[in-house]
Amino acid sequence: MTSDKKTKQFNQGLCHFLDESPSPFHAVANMKFMLEEQGFKQLNERESWSALAAGSYYVTRNDSSLIAFRLPDKDIADTGYRMVGAHTDSPCLKVKPQPEVVKQNLLQLGVEVYGGVLLNPWFDRDLSMAGRVSFFNDKGQLCSALLNFERPVLALPSLAIHLDREANNNKSINPQKDLPPILMQLQDGETKPCFREMLKQQLLTEKPELDSCEIVDYEIYLYDCQKAAVVGLKDQFISSARLDNLLSCYVGLSSLIASDREKANLLICTDHEEVGSVSAAGAQGSFMESVLLRLAGDNERYQRMLANSMLISADNAHAIHPNFADKHDSEHGPQLNRGPVIKTNANQRYATASESSAIFRRLCQVYSVPVQDFVARTDLGCGSTIGPVIASNLGIKTIDVGVPTYAMHSIREMAGSEDADMLNTVLTGFYNCLV
Ligand code: ZN
Repeated sequence: MTSDKKTKQFNQGLCHFLDESPSPFHAVANMKFMLEEQGFKQLNERESWSALAAGSYYVTRNDSSLIAFRLPDKDIADTGYRMVGAHTDSPCLKVKPQPEVVKQNLLQLGVEVYGGVLLNPWFDRDLSMAGRVSFFNDKGQLCSALLNFERPVLALPSLAIHLDREANNNKSINPQKDLPPILMQLQDGETKPCFREMLKQQLLTEKPELDSCEIVDYEIYLYDCQKAAVVGLKDQFISSARLDNLLSCYVGLSSLIASDREKANLLICTDHEEVGSVSAAGAQGSFMESVLLRLAGDNERYQRMLANSMLISADNAHAIHPNFADKHDSEHGPQLNRGPVIKTNANQRYATASESSAIFRRLCQVYSVPVQDFVARTDLGCGSTIGPVIASNLGIKTIDVGVPTYAMHSIREMAGSEDADMLNTVLTGFYNCLV
């Protein structure tokens, strides 16, 4: 296969994954499906792992974080794990527990802002909603299921410029007042519809095997119905929601699947990174430590294994924008389609150290993949990733890398159409321990 064709095929898979993963729950469900197709077996945290045979496994927590790994014949205390990390969540709007609001005969939904959302791009989109519901089935058992409306059921119209002459000069958003989207128009005298009832009807449509159900609670996220697309006159860009950081989840997963089955390789994709990672399923929680400790068996072996391990934390980087080039340090402005970016920060917002970055540079050299550097302007702060969280909690040698993107945390972000596949090549090489 030519490299053009290979990249095109890779991007098709990536775009499909992005479209099918409107919430972290859906992202994990899709990763599970891909892993099972490749023979990975699911483990349950509640069961004993003491007699695990060599093989390929995965485990999830809260249905929104996942660790997949290969258990080799060799002693993992000696080999350590080659790890890739990413996060499953993206900044978005999330439906409140009692969301129904009626104004001007319109039913609107109260929403919370999840993470550092760039709010303006959420207006004038065809919005839908997806997530997880907890419900009692007809036998009175408490169950949970994923749910996805798929079609545009919500709208958040802008205020016309005639009513806000300052809109292009001075636009601020009050998230409590300005963000509730419109779900439907009510007839005169119609009583306020119940959101849980709508979720129930949707669940019964998606799961015809259910005779009835009672929705108890939910985590429902809003998303844009517009599909991921390869754009630009010469198809040089990918435009999609949730590139941060489902792109890295997909690349990490593809690399793990393509890697040598005999090697001690691991992928961790966690939820709640955009809100600080402090949760049972987040990178700051006990998930990673618990899984690795159980694989190692005892603390002595666990500590040796950690010391022999390395993590590549993959999360997108800011590409230098032609209209705002002064927001970057002039010598550290990554460009689209010029390869993965090593992210460095003296204040340890990124976990990159000279030893880990040297290994990554060497990998890029071996696979003929160009590599770029990002460091924030000295007078500007920068974001962070799960890299420093895992590095500090577990003491694993770590590097932060990512593909360059525009519009990070917008409802629609943009990346180069060659970069994801290039990162995939490097991560597969890392897993195969060729350096
Ligand atoms: Zn991110």
